[in-house]
Amino acid sequence: MTGGSGNNSLMDLAETLRRRVGGEVLVREPLARHTTIGLGGPADLFVRAMSVEDLRQVFLFAGEHNLPVTPLGCGSNVLVSESGVRGIVVQADGDLQDLFIEGERCLAGGGCPLSRAISETARAGLAGLEVLYGVPGTVGGAVVMNAGTRNGCVADTLESVTLVGRDGSVRDASAAELGLSYRHSALQEQQGDVFVAQAVFRLRPEDPAAIRERIARYADARRASQPLDWRSCGCMFRNPESDSAGRLIDAAGLKGLSEGGAQVSDRHANFIVVSPEATASDVRRLAEKVRRLVQERHGVTLEYEVKLLGEWPDE
Ligand SMILES: Cc1cc2nc3c(=O)[nH]c(=O)nc-3n(C[C@H](O)[C@H](O)[C@H](O)COP(=O)(O)OP(=O)(O)OC[C@H]3O[C@@H](n4cnc5c(N)ncnc54)[C@H](O)[C@@H]3O)c2cc1C
Repeated sequence: MTGGSGNNSLMDLAETLRRRVGGEVLVREPLARHTTIGLGGPADLFVRAMSVEDLRQVFLFAGEHNLPVTPLGCGSNVLVSESGVRGIVVQADGDLQDLFIEGERCLAGGGCPLSRAISETARAGLAGLEVLYGVPGTVGGAVVMNAGTRNGCVADTLESVTLVGRDGSVRDASAAELGLSYRHSALQEQQGDVFVAQAVFRLRPEDPAAIRERIARYADARRASQPLDWRSCGCMFRNPESDSAGRLIDAAGLKGLSEGGAQVSDRHANFIVVSPEATASDVRRLAEKVRRLVQERHGVTLEYEVKLLGEWPDE
């Protein structure tokens, strides 16, 4: 689907899909533009879904044409290969970024920036989401990843979600159905078959000034511990049971280790940061080297927290 005639058929597919969705449909859109690390090849088709109906149409169209679907939030927890992603990459826009506050509940679209959900609920005197302060990304991505910090995680306040499925179905699911645990939800096993269109959080009333004060503390702690001046996709690896991946990498003496334009951060060893000339392959090669050396030195196999999207040669 990527050669000369492939491009023509992509154009045809895009044209057909444009008649079914309200949002933009782009052909061979570079995903480097949509990831915090600024790397990644093209998506065959890239759709900005404006509504639940757009999401339904994308999934139904994908089913009719036998195309894989990859949901994307802010791309802050993904590493996309240089060859990019086949099929349709879909991002939430329009109505899917809406946010409503109803009593002690916050209803946020899957594409709503998490930072906005945090600031608006804090301003409304609703506490709970501020524990996620500084986590980049969307509400949908945060639910899928059960994003969290040392102060709490999505699971603490998530009440329910609205899911759009590959068969075009729209259904509500309670947080309990999502199997949320450390940086994990059951939605990760359904990658490409389901899209988080909305999340409902149950929060608790508190003085906005007290919430703001906590946010300021969290912001200071984050600035002190993370390499925020560099492009990255956050923590590369999950923390193993009762240890920290960053500590293991640091203790193995790997801070500063590099491959091409990718380097293990000397501020936070679980971050791989990149300079402008880096490629996604540099990052993957470095990550694999780190895994090998941590295995040799500590006998621990690190698992990726970052989602690897696209085609990757076996490492
Ligand atoms: C500087 C930096 C700091 C970070 N700090 C933290 C931290 O403290 N704690 C933490 O937990 N994470 C952290 N992260 C990682 C990342 O921000 C979180 O995992 C975030 O929740 C990902 O959201 P996203 O919208 O960017 O998702 P993406 O990275 O776009 O996607 C992540 C996964 O979710 C899927 N997905 C995304 N949106 C949807 C949707 N609406 N429906 C279905 N599937 C979807 C994607 O297919 C992919 O598999 C950090 C990242 C960076 C770059």
